[in-house]
Amino acid sequence: MFRKSFKMRIIIPTVTIFVVLVVALNLFLSFRFSALSGFLINEKLISNTNSLKNYLGDCEANSRAAALSMASNARAVEAIKERDRREILRIFTPTHDLYQISFYTICDADGFVLARTYSPDQFGDNVLSQHSFREALAGNTITNFEEAAMVKVSLRTGTPVYDADGALVGAILAGVRFDLDSEVERLKEIFHSEITVFLGSTRVATTITKNGQSIVGTELDSRIGEVVIQNRREYSGDADILGEKYKTFYMPLLNAGGDAFATFFLGIPEAEVISAVNSTMYAGLALGFGGLLISILLLYKFISSISKPITRLSGDMESIANGALDVDIQVKGEDEVGLLGASLQRVADILYKLIDDINMMISEQRQGNTDYSLDASEFLGDYKVLAENILELAALGNLDQLTGIPNRRSFDNRLEMEWGRAIRDHTPISILMIDVDKFKNYNDAFGHQQGDVALKTVARVLRQSGKRSIDFAARWGGEEFVVLLPGTDAQGAVTVAENIREEVGGTEIPCADEAGAKVTISVGVNTQTPTSNSLMSGFISGADAALYQAKGTGRNRVCLHDGRL
Ligand code: GH3
Ligand code: MG
Ligand code: MG
Repeated sequence: MFRKSFKMRIIIPTVTIFVVLVVALNLFLSFRFSALSGFLINEKLISNTNSLKNYLGDCEANSRAAALSMASNARAVEAIKERDRREILRIFTPTHDLYQISFYTICDADGFVLARTYSPDQFGDNVLSQHSFREALAGNTITNFEEAAMVKVSLRTGTPVYDADGALVGAILAGVRFDLDSEVERLKEIFHSEITVFLGSTRVATTITKNGQSIVGTELDSRIGEVVIQNRREYSGDADILGEKYKTFYMPLLNAGGDAFATFFLGIPEAEVISAVNSTMYAGLALGFGGLLISILLLYKFISSISKPITRLSGDMESIANGALDVDIQVKGEDEVGLLGASLQRVADILYKLIDDINMMISEQRQGNTDYSLDASEFLGDYKVLAENILELAALGNLDQLTGIPNRRSFDNRLEMEWGRAIRDHTPISILMIDVDKFKNYNDAFGHQQGDVALKTVARVLRQSGKRSIDFAARWGGEEFVVLLPGTDAQGAVTVAENIREEVGGTEIPCADEAGAKVTISVGVNTQTPTSNSLMSGFISGADAALYQAKGTGRNRVCLHDGRL
């Protein structure tokens, strides 16, 4: 039942199509988005790799700027010369931020440390074993990655320090260190990537954690170590680090001797990018489903707004089909369904009027009011044809076929109506019972056909005899006629009867018995002012009796019942 309804026939296919589309879109998007994720990760890795290299270039320039500017700072030189450790720390430490470096180490001309600006701020040890210091004390300024006892991995610049007289008083080392978790955490914020620094193949600083613990101390994958440390080549590709998939970039850090003593690692966790991409995709899908849901609701509402009035209309149609034509159709409005409602209302109204008019006419005529008829011109097309046919049929049922004047049935109806009215109004009512004299002879003499013509002539006379519109002439049957004269007393009725008798006598209908004579009629008249106790049958039989009397007393005359006048 549901499937056949308008609503279900639209909503089920629509929802099915939408769901199929959304699922197809989902599949397509997840396929496209996984390709997109891969693409995005690679792009991000390339861009981060370049940023890292730029950053290291900046570190190099910064360490160089820091070392050289401090070596030419007179107060710094003086403090070094004076071996004033506290003064050295006071001058050097505040410049970390200025040059974006993380440490200074200052030594005297013999390679003994005067001060370190980082913790542990040990001093007094000899650093000549370090390449950068050796070169600086030899008068050279060089920048390179280096491994040292305290700072395991750093990019540093060593430069000699001369006093105003040009005498070597020591050396300054300025650098950025990469061997602390705090340092790589800072880099992670810059690059939005996991950062690890390896010393040899061991992690000395990393942002990667496992169960909340830094994985410092764990080892580099030997396969990658071979590429990066042994072959001193960069490595880029997929890597599995403690069960997590990463897109990775490994860069060997070469010391002054050209050895890859350390490695810089930059990694992008695939899951992170995939989940970011997926959440974008899911947001899109949620939006799609939301839109779908809203569309379906709107569609449902729209279809309801059509199907509800249609259901109501079909109920109205059913009523019309069951004959209840006085429906008041409630479906209204300017839209198509409203127009349908208006058309249906028009059909019902026309049918209602037509049928009501026909019923009214029949009921009026049944009561003897043969003048009442419907107006066919009020209808159009087939309705008009029907109205005209009904009119004709009604007339046929009420008129005598031979003479065209009202028949006996009409007379009975009319009598009943007028009889009732006379009782109500206390007015007299008269009846003329008319019989053609010796008509059998007429037929015998001139033939039946001619007899019919004679009867038509008599009828015409009767029709024209009624002076008032309420006078009513009908054929009683055979060669007998009747005239009803409402509101007419006996005298008036006799006068009308005499007039008729004379008029018939004046027609061209010859008489069969006497040459030159015309056909005559006998008339029995009866008049009553009826009450509710009066009998109609008595009224008629009274007229019959008067007619009988007219026949008996020689015909061609008018007799009043009981001889009253
Ligand atoms: P009376 O003066 O006593 O009335 O004599 P009558 O011959 O007229 O009376 P009767 O009742 O004996 O005969 C009536 C005749 O009327 C018989 C019938 O042939 C004739 N008639 C009745 N109806 C028709 C009709 O429709 N057409 C024709 N042509 N004749 C009819
Ligand atoms: Mg007769
Ligand atoms: Mg007769």
